[in-house]
Amino acid sequence: MSHSDPNCIFCKIAEGKIPSRKVYEDEEMFAFHDINPWAPVHFLMIPKEHIVSIAHVEERHAAMLGRMMARVPQLAQQEGCVPYPDGGFRLVSNVGEHGGQEVHHLHFHVIGGPRPWKKG
Ligand code: 5GP
Ligand code: ZN
Repeated sequence: MSHSDPNCIFCKIAEGKIPSRKVYEDEEMFAFHDINPWAPVHFLMIPKEHIVSIAHVEERHAAMLGRMMARVPQLAQQEGCVPYPDGGFRLVSNVGEHGGQEVHHLHFHVIGGPRPWKKG
């Protein structure tokens, strides 16, 4: 895959080279459970293309990102989040050092389920 970084852990997860608990996959995106969940529901959604962060998004990514966002509520509910407004979830993307980004492949945290949570 030309858009993959061989040293990136999330590229390896998207390619199945590192195992993960998969939530969803199609041609352009991959979703999997966070290895260190903050809450009863905590999964990550990533583009298969290696994009470093939301600060690195280009115009050509717009449609793919729109499709990712449109899929969030469906996957959140599938994974156990109670629907809006009683339930809901938190949608987070950390960018850079000050944003607390640890893995430098764009990802959206989807975090939900009954509180209290470990974090957030
Ligand atoms: P960040 O701080 O970059 O927004 O979050 C990275 C997230 O990726 C963290 O919540 C961390 O638990 C998760 N993570 C890091 N490495 C792995 C891994 O190998 N597998 C899975 N499933 N999650 C990971
Ligand atoms: Zn990557």
